[in-house]
Amino acid sequence: MMSEAQKLLNTYFGYNEFRPGQEQIIKRLLQGQDTVGIMPTGGGKSICYQIPAMMFSGVTLVISPLISLMKDQVDELEKQGIPATFINSSIPDETVRARLDGAVQGVYRLLYVAPERLSSPMFQRVLDQMDVALVAVDEAHCISQWGHDFRPSYRLIHDMINYIPGKPVVVALTATATPKVTEDICELLTIDDQGVVLTGFGRENLYFQVIKGQAKDPFIADYINKNKAQSGIIYAATRKEVERLHQFLMTNGFNAGKYHAGLSEAERNDNQERFLYDDITVMVATSAFGMGIDKSNVRYIIHNNIPRNIESYYQEAGRAGRDGEDSECILLFSPQDIHIQKFLIDQSDMDDERKQQEYDKLQKMIGYGHTEMCLEQYILTYFGESDAVPCGHCGNCRDDREAVDVTREAQMVFSCVTRMRQKFGKLFIAKVLTGSSDKKIQSFGFNQLSTYGILRDETQSQVSEFIDFLTAEEYLQPTGGSYPVLVLTSKAVPVLKGDAHVWKKESVQAKQLVADDALFERLRQLRKDIAESEKVPPYVIFSDQSLREMSAQLPATNEQFLQIKGVGRQKLDYYGSTFMKTIAAYCEEHAISQQQDQTSHYKEAPTQRKQGKSNDNPSHHETYQLYQNGLSVQDIADKRGLSAKTIEKHLLTCDEEGLNIDWSNFINPDNEVLIAAAVKEADTERLRPIKDLLPEHVEYFEIQAYMRKHKQVT
Ligand code: ADP
Ligand code: MG
Ligand code: ZN
Repeated sequence: MMSEAQKLLNTYFGYNEFRPGQEQIIKRLLQGQDTVGIMPTGGGKSICYQIPAMMFSGVTLVISPLISLMKDQVDELEKQGIPATFINSSIPDETVRARLDGAVQGVYRLLYVAPERLSSPMFQRVLDQMDVALVAVDEAHCISQWGHDFRPSYRLIHDMINYIPGKPVVVALTATATPKVTEDICELLTIDDQGVVLTGFGRENLYFQVIKGQAKDPFIADYINKNKAQSGIIYAATRKEVERLHQFLMTNGFNAGKYHAGLSEAERNDNQERFLYDDITVMVATSAFGMGIDKSNVRYIIHNNIPRNIESYYQEAGRAGRDGEDSECILLFSPQDIHIQKFLIDQSDMDDERKQQEYDKLQKMIGYGHTEMCLEQYILTYFGESDAVPCGHCGNCRDDREAVDVTREAQMVFSCVTRMRQKFGKLFIAKVLTGSSDKKIQSFGFNQLSTYGILRDETQSQVSEFIDFLTAEEYLQPTGGSYPVLVLTSKAVPVLKGDAHVWKKESVQAKQLVADDALFERLRQLRKDIAESEKVPPYVIFSDQSLREMSAQLPATNEQFLQIKGVGRQKLDYYGSTFMKTIAAYCEEHAISQQQDQTSHYKEAPTQRKQGKSNDNPSHHETYQLYQNGLSVQDIADKRGLSAKTIEKHLLTCDEEGLNIDWSNFINPDNEVLIAAAVKEADTERLRPIKDLLPEHVEYFEIQAYMRKHKQVT
């Protein structure tokens, strides 16, 4: 039996299953138990209070520190058919009064409030009259001085709760899992520590990677170039570095935004807005950017410099892939950057004990840069998940690059460093090795060294990059302050003596994250047009994940459209027909047949549809020829420059035309029994209910292949 909460999840939010922790938290709240929910960024904390808010008779107050976010969240709720509103300092008094009146009269299910408002007389006056059923404290770590975002006004929350007549249920939500912060939240909100619900911190759609000893700017440029249509954030450690990188990207023709505390508030807001609205896809920023970012379609987070600890890293990286689509989190690691973080700790006004703690945390972050173990496992272990296992998809788990022996070159560098008495930095060492005519070299007499010009066949930047590699691999160590001098480590000694080899793997290449999919692009453009006319960010209309499913499933009826993840009743009413029209038009143009469904009045018979476009050799027949030559779906996709999904659609179309395809080849033998059972249980030919009964890794296409093999599809 489906619970009431589950029904709401389905009808309003368009999701079929709760994510880990959600159901447990919701159940507790419905039973009147105060709860602290700790879930990773993107884990789905909002739904934990939004669903109870629809079930309680009174209003739910949501305390959220982010003014910029409130409007988007309220817009999103309204699109889902849930009445909500917000008050904060950006709203004129009159409007605030009207909204508060509405809340008193029970017009809204949720009222979002900035913490500063809690002490305003206007708010306190209406609080007496309001029937408050639930108080949700979002970003609850802000209440703790130990959190990284302490907000003094969060301390007002407890008094406010006590002030409300009839005690409301309280839920506090955060992604910060340190015991100290949790303890503070429990204490300051008087929630029993038995009331803490902590989910696993793993995010399976995030692909972590560390790239070290490789020139950063070219990598970033290449990466953005290959992923122009995708949204991403590039974090840098300092304002200066943000400015530099931003300038670099702009000069290279990329339209990027920038964000740091040195910009005016207006400029920051404007840049953030353009990013949220998909007007620019890349944001270069310091860690000041992001708390206000619930944008669900961020596809990559690149850290240009090492962050100060794993907590910050995971939080920042976690801003990728909220929509559940695969996303990359890349750290461009260079040991030279460590001194910036050390400097920031040194300069802070923390006491010595606290400073030491911060150094220790930084050390763990450095360890992440060096580790060869699974990166996800490294992070989860850090957060106390001792049973974490290798993820199988991070940069370390997947690393199969060839290594070449670079011992001779390394010896040249080491011996040059030694002859220069270990008193210089990377650039100067590279100059000596490449035989530069720099005056400074002569004044030191380094042009007399046997290593002068010994690498003159290479460019200075190639040699610099190689020195970066040796530093990242800890043969060289930067010492000193803002002008780091490189010295040899003990690891370099056996290399110099010829007792050890240095191996270097080939550089990591930027990759294209999302295969081109023309229909997806068209739906995305449609979404952007609608978003512009409705003045909301595009992801508020539909997530990328929803669009991706639409483009794979090709829904043609209301019922099919409702099966798409993230499509609830109201979104179907608002947008269903517009999106289905676009999908149908696309299918028409490309001679693709849409889903079969008895309830469909919309479609013609597939045989008729296929005549839509006359073409001597239609695209799917080209695919078929390659298939007959024995190529896999992926090979065909690569060869034709199309997405794997498109190739799959082609094969299905070929099948409908009666062309012979051996479907067994597309079904993983291990999955076949599972699929058979699911098909039986679901007792339908619709894919979605079958997919829902199966583990995540079983793909739609496998199910379709199974159905074709067993001729369950007409
Ligand atoms: P958090 O506040 O924990 O960072 P959000 O509440 O913003 O995360 O949710 C992140 C994304 O996950 C949103 O796009 C939301 O719609 C989606 N989401 C939440 N719950 C589910 C679910 N049960 N199934 C699928 N997607 C979900
Ligand atoms: Mg949140
Ligand atoms: Zn891994």
